[in-house]
Amino acid sequence: MSFLKELLSNHFNNYIRILKSVFTPVVCYGCNTNKISGQNNYLCTSCLMQLPFTDHFERNYINSVHEKFYGRFNIEFGAALIYFSPKSIVGSLIHHYKYRNKKYLGTYFAEMICEKIDTCDFLPQFDLITSIPIHKKKFESRGFNQSTIIAEYISEHINCPVNCSLLIKIFETTSQTRKNRKQRLMNIMDSIAIDEKNIETIKGKHILLVDDTLTTGATIESCGRVLLKNGAKSISIMCISQAV
Ligand SMILES: [Zn+2]
Repeated sequence: MSFLKELLSNHFNNYIRILKSVFTPVVCYGCNTNKISGQNNYLCTSCLMQLPFTDHFERNYINSVHEKFYGRFNIEFGAALIYFSPKSIVGSLIHHYKYRNKKYLGTYFAEMICEKIDTCDFLPQFDLITSIPIHKKKFESRGFNQSTIIAEYISEHINCPVNCSLLIKIFETTSQTRKNRKQRLMNIMDSIAIDEKNIETIKGKHILLVDDTLTTGATIESCGRVLLKNGAKSISIMCISQAV
């Protein structure tokens, strides 16, 4: 009897799932208009074709990520997957990822980054991968660190150790508007600390720092400086997108 009940219940659940997919079709995360189909597909063909990929993994030159940190601190390798602007396909995708609880988009981005990594013939050897920390409260409300998901995926793909608890965001730095660049950096610098128990882990290491979107670069700079100050040998940067 219970078997029959379970069978009927499973059938019922499947019907509900089918009905839901008919009446609530999946809409493209890029344009929020066109319908999409297929598993693990979040963009319509039109949006997919328009993704503004960088050439950072294809050409070995002083790219816009290097330029961002020029005269601030040295980076060994720097690359972003795509260019970002707020009202764009990429802007919408990142918004869904970070603010609409679409955690699985992390894997989507990470897969694309790893495809680029596979074609990159000047990728240096990293000793350790870590991600930009977010404040505990933000982690609790979002449920995940958007950069950690990417860092862990890359780590597995290139078979490099990962430790995403090297750095800690001590306090939130939201109201930065009244501060100049130096004050903003000082404020962010103060908000990033190294977890004391990891100091030995980073000594003499070439560390790959992973972030979601590179804008002013102040947070990455702060993290990089903290790692270097505490004995890391060199820093490289990889992010999903770079603001244009
Ligand atoms: Zn679309």
